[in-house]
Amino acid sequence: MLESPQGARVTVDGRRYVAFCSNDYLGLANHPALIEAACEGAVRHGVGAGASHLILGHSAAHHALEEALATFVGLPRALLFSAGYLANIGVVTAFVGRGDAVFADRLNHASLNDAVLLSRAEFKRFPHLDLAALERLLAASRARRKLVVTDAVFSMDGDIAPVPELIALCERHDAWLLLDDAHGFGVLGREGRGVLAHFNAASPRVIYMATLGKAAGVFGAFVAGEAELVETLIQRARSYIYTTAAPPLLSVALMKSLELVRNEDWRRHHLRSLVALLRERLQLRRWRLAPSETAIQPLVIGGNEAAVAVSEALARQGLLVPAIRPPTVPQGTARLRISLSAAHELADVERLAEAICKAERAVPCSEP
Ligand SMILES: *Cc1c(COP(=O)(O)O)cnc(C)c1O
Repeated sequence: MLESPQGARVTVDGRRYVAFCSNDYLGLANHPALIEAACEGAVRHGVGAGASHLILGHSAAHHALEEALATFVGLPRALLFSAGYLANIGVVTAFVGRGDAVFADRLNHASLNDAVLLSRAEFKRFPHLDLAALERLLAASRARRKLVVTDAVFSMDGDIAPVPELIALCERHDAWLLLDDAHGFGVLGREGRGVLAHFNAASPRVIYMATLGKAAGVFGAFVAGEAELVETLIQRARSYIYTTAAPPLLSVALMKSLELVRNEDWRRHHLRSLVALLRERLQLRRWRLAPSETAIQPLVIGGNEAAVAVSEALARQGLLVPAIRPPTVPQGTARLRISLSAAHELADVERLAEAICKAERAVPCSEP
């Protein structure tokens, strides 16, 4: 159980650790300026929204944040959801139904898969990043409406979807593209504007979704795109309509967060240095660091027991790195999901790399 605020240094069950497990990629979750903004927001707006957005829960704070987010990601309009899970459920079910088809990368986040099942659209999955397979599925489809859904940065692998190529495919086959940028928003692109800025890509076919509880350090999510799309969501997204609006104080904190995300480029620079240092120091013989340039650095170990044993050995040395096993990842690819944050120091990463290299030498070779 976490007994301290989220951060690079945490207290868990009475013990101090350096943690490599959070999605707080920019180190903002416990930032004094955000805490102050949240307190001010509580004084100004109270603690609870008290109603759904469509009744009387949509406050001036939500509204200002939606406008700021749309501008930030360079899209006409944005709509807040209480969480990324709810945003994905809402978008997919509002947009497709029986007679439509959804085309999904096999390694997509669980919330996208759940959303497709709930929508009752035909569910076609393609091998991870296999655009040729996707194109065959699109070409063969007779569905009324086609929607391609993908993580922008894959949550267990850290690799980035080829967004310009996906947009081109969608344009050729009259399909829409839902991008889940939960791990790219705040981290990728100029000023952290996300995966579209990273690729300098744009298309009216893109439905952009990002979460606000990861790099932005607070809570919530938003969907952005053409004004007409957002209007459809307001009318039809049930996880927007039938739920209480998030506390407006979170929107006040997020306005401050957005300012730091945009202005404090050093956080992204430092994060990139940490990634480079980890990759340089982890010279391994059997275990493999997956090819990733993002804050998510998966160390694939293979066997479940070995992955858990390494995670436990690191914990005994005060280093928290979660072991991720099937079914969250494919069979035989159990891994340590190392996530780096601007709150880490270079020395933290050096210590982690040393401990992992030592652990590799200590674990017997027999395990797959
Ligand atoms: C975390 C995550 C979500 C869910 O977002 P929450 O705001 O935590 O509900 C959705 N998609 C991806 C890829 C995620 O990593």
